[in-house]
Order: sequence, then C-alpha cells, then structure tokens
Amino acid sequence: MALPLPSSLSPSKVTSFKDCALAFRLSVIDRLPEPPSPHAAKGTLVHRALELLMWEEDPAGRTLEAARAKLERAVPEILDGDEYRGLPWAQGEREAFVADAATLLEHYFQLEDPTAVHVIGTELRMSVQLGSLRLSGIIDRLDLGADGELVVTDYKTGRAPTANYEQSRLGGVQFYAFLCEQVLGRRPARVQLLHLREPLSISTSPSDQSIRGLQQQTRAIWSAVEQACAREDFRPKPGRLCDYCAYHDLCPAVGGDLSLLPGRIPIAPEQTAVAS
Ligand code: SF4
Repeated sequence: MALPLPSSLSPSKVTSFKDCALAFRLSVIDRLPEPPSPHAAKGTLVHRALELLMWEEDPAGRTLEAARAKLERAVPEILDGDEYRGLPWAQGEREAFVADAATLLEHYFQLEDPTAVHVIGTELRMSVQLGSLRLSGIIDRLDLGADGELVVTDYKTGRAPTANYEQSRLGGVQFYAFLCEQVLGRRPARVQLLHLREPLSISTSPSDQSIRGLQQQTRAIWSAVEQACAREDFRPKPGRLCDYCAYHDLCPAVGGDLSLLPGRIPIAPEQTAVAS
C-alpha cells in the first residue's frame, strides 16, 4: 500500500529527508506530533525578536537596547503561546534560556550593522510549482543591498556546520534564491546565513549553475520521496540527530518498533534495515 505524497517540499523537509528518511516519514507523512523542543523554541524566539527589530524600527532605531526590548516582548508571546507552553522548565531554566537568547541577539550585532540594512520584507512565505512538485519556504528577511540588488538573509541559532556540511546548508538559501527569482522575477545577488551562536556569516552569490544544480537536486530528492512512498520504504539513518529525535520508540535503529505506528500494517523486516 503506497503512502501519500507530501503536498510540498521546503528546505527543512529536504534536509530532513537527507538526514533520516524514517524521521522525515514519521514527521511529514504520518504527521506524528513531536513534543515541543527547547532548541526549536529558541530559534523561534530569536527570529521573532529580530523580525520585530528589523520590521518595526526605522534603521536608526535598530539598537541593541531596542533588540533587548523586542526580546522581552517576544518571550511571553512565544514561550507561553500554543506551541511551546508545554515546555518543562526546571527552576531557573527559563531565565537561563532567555539569557542565552539575549546573547544570540548580541552576537547578531557583531555580524552586521542593522542601521545600514534596507529591509523589504520579513518572514516572507513563498511557493512555486516545479513540475508535479510544489516548493515552499519562508524567507527570514529580504533586503535591498547598497547596489540596489536583492539580498536574502537566513538566521541560524544552532551551531554552524563543519566545512563538510557548509555547502549542503547553503543549498537551503539557494532554495530561497530560487523562490525569489520565480515569485518576484529577480534573482537575489547574494544569500547569507547568519549563524548567531559562533557568530559567523556565510554568504554566496546564486548563479545559473547553482540554481540549475538546486533544481536538479530537488527533483532527485522528490523522485526519491516518490519512490519511498510507493514502496512504503523509509529507512532509518542513525547519526548525531538521533539525540534530538522524538521517534525512538518507533525507530528500529535505536531499539524501537515501527509496527507500533498507529494505523499501519506491520512493516516487513527488510524495510527496517538501516540506510547506508
Ligand atoms: S532515532 Fe535516528 S535513525 Fe531513528 S528515526 Fe530518529 S533520527 Fe532516524
């Protein structure tokens, strides 16, 4: 029995499929709820504070003090909102969490001067059709550079990738450049990842070749997803992300049992083999 195809692909879904096909299936196709994670909550909180800073303030008003005030406003909105209200906090943990978010905001000011940024939009949702595949994504920030060209910015609150992973993570921002080009009719001259933890900035200029490569890679991933759905064959790929995975009880690679998946027939043993 074939599994239903996901309705669209986003950069995070592409990464999720490449990281571990089984985790992708359980999250994207079976839509199993994942418990709220502090890691995701911190990303959402810092993104929200930066969105408020860059969108609500005139360039001259984008000071560190203003950023701290935006964070203070974002804390109840995000941590007491529907998605993250259930996060368990030990004594003093929430305060330490907010203090760390404030540190990430301070690091942002080491990466660029926000008073010199001409923001066109923040948290821009874009989608395009590529053959039978719908691509969608949310662009953290779109700017007009000093040269009048478009610049895409993506904030990251986790650790920056090692050199081996750098190109694959830049694939995500190439994805956003492609969306911009299709939706707005102009290719961004630059896409940048601002890693707030280190802090570290990585940027690249999309070219015909990089955009073509992105389309080829995305089509290949989509074809792999179609085949996996048709065969109901999504293999676990154990790695460093297992530590953060919510599906241990279902994952045969870490001693779980996939046949316990609600509403599913038992899985054939060969389909629980670990991906190479
Ligand atoms: S525990 Fe690891 S191998 Fe298993 S589904 Fe999660 S990420 Fe994949």
